[in-house]
Amino acid sequence: MRNITIAIDGYSSTGKSTLAKQLAKALEYVYVDTGAMYRAVTLFAMRNGFIANGIENIPALVRLLPKIQLKFVRNDKLKFSEMYLNGENVEKEIRQMEVSQYVSRIAEIEQVRYKLVDMQREMGRDKAIVMDGRDIGTTVFPDADLKIFMTASLQARTTRRYKELLEKGEEVTYEEVLENVQKRDYIDTHREFSPLMKAEDAIVFDNSDMGLKEQFERLESIARR
Ligand code: C5P
Repeated sequence: MRNITIAIDGYSSTGKSTLAKQLAKALEYVYVDTGAMYRAVTLFAMRNGFIANGIENIPALVRLLPKIQLKFVRNDKLKFSEMYLNGENVEKEIRQMEVSQYVSRIAEIEQVRYKLVDMQREMGRDKAIVMDGRDIGTTVFPDADLKIFMTASLQARTTRRYKELLEKGEEVTYEEVLENVQKRDYIDTHREFSPLMKAEDAIVFDNSDMGLKEQFERLESIARR
């Protein structure tokens, strides 16, 4: 298979993963959700007591980084890959609000980023991939064949995320989701190592007023150009 990279970056809850997944399926490329990797490291930190009540023990987490094994394993029934942390399927747990509350703080840690960026580059080696995240077009694959920068209004993003969490049975308020989305965007755009920003050559894709079908059709036509 030819080595082709499509990088999809953007703010939290812009629907990157949903679209990237659909696009990868249509093009028959491998899909990599890098947010899931940062979420799994965060879950590991939470489970090991390195984050509790807002207190973080970063040096302890960094020492244990070599012990963190991450793997995407395809679920043939669901037809997509799920995140495994040290051999355990954590796909559901990493999507919970509690993980979302801490993930951007963990994603700021230089050693965490080095580890995950290396893994992401390896995953994309000699393959056709669609990878979504925050720094794919700027840091992970600066030479990507196509770069999309997704954005949407804060209100559109919060509403989408809020509905998604309610559907999963989480007890959250709109205000809590709004605060979380804003906080993650702030940390992601202000961190020292590979902050979230549009790559110079990325195409901006604002989907505030677009339904899923239209978004997909537009994105697919850009990708097939
Ligand atoms: O994409 P998702 O919202 O699941 O990502 C969770 C968090 O992981 C983001 O808010 C961001 O802090 C971090 N992240 C990152 N770099 C990436 C992907 C995600 O810093 N490439």
